[in-house]
Amino acid sequence: MNKIPISLNIDDFCPIVHVYYEHSDIKITKDGRELLPEVPLSFMEKFCALVEKYGVKGKLSVVPLPGCKNPYGEERVKPWMNLFHEKLEGKFSFCPEMITHHLTYDIDKDVYLDIDEETWSNMQNEKSLANYIQYALTLLKERGVKCTGVTSPWHFGSKVKEAYENAIFDALVKVYGNGDYWYFLETEPSGKPRTVIEKDGSRLFAISATIRDYLWQTIDNPKTDIKEVADFYITEDGKNGAVLDTINLGGHPVMLTHWQSLFSNGSETGLEILEEVLIRIKNNLSDKVEFMSYDEKL
Ligand SMILES: [Zn+2]
Repeated sequence: MNKIPISLNIDDFCPIVHVYYEHSDIKITKDGRELLPEVPLSFMEKFCALVEKYGVKGKLSVVPLPGCKNPYGEERVKPWMNLFHEKLEGKFSFCPEMITHHLTYDIDKDVYLDIDEETWSNMQNEKSLANYIQYALTLLKERGVKCTGVTSPWHFGSKVKEAYENAIFDALVKVYGNGDYWYFLETEPSGKPRTVIEKDGSRLFAISATIRDYLWQTIDNPKTDIKEVADFYITEDGKNGAVLDTINLGGHPVMLTHWQSLFSNGSETGLEILEEVLIRIKNNLSDKVEFMSYDEKL
């Protein structure tokens, strides 16, 4: 019997810059600690080690100009990019999460507008969205990141969905040629990849997350109980939790999380919980599920 694909979906990821810090209105956690502006290389190293140890696969968003900054040319980002290519390529499918995950970038004038990308997107048409997405893809391509999809920051494009889907399709085919591509916007418990466009030898699939980000709470609470949060995904005996719920609904488990949820504002509790979840999946479901990138799922 074929195993059920399971994937980890990580958003708000990029080198060094803490994307959440950049767009968060309040630069302080709910328990009164200052939000950290950067995520160090040492955390990236720990994440890559975990991926290797448990054979994790899935999807990673890479923000091209995170928080309206461009860290990619910095000398200290080189070891980060080396790790990215050596340890994550082939395991994760890559995509931009628009350009800044913050303010809208005016491509022609090279300035940032005083409007966030989500609000801007929902006032656009197919052509302007395609231009924007094409630029995001091109920035990543120039940095050696091969993308096979697009992720929507917040609810980007949700109110102009048909134009948005056509724009994603056009932009991906223009930048990378014909192929099978995907995009991520929604969360629904029973999700499987769904074909939304099939044209001239290329296809676009919608891939939903099926499990919400239970690790987010670790940003504000460093004392989170690791086992208790892991139970939301899968209990120690492997009998309950959202991973099982998705399987029982006939779906493919896609665990949504964010780089900041794993980093937990420096306490790294989110990453510890993820490890506990991975151990439980390995112990209870290794004959039933198999980690896959988004490309392998299609
Ligand atoms: Zn995001």
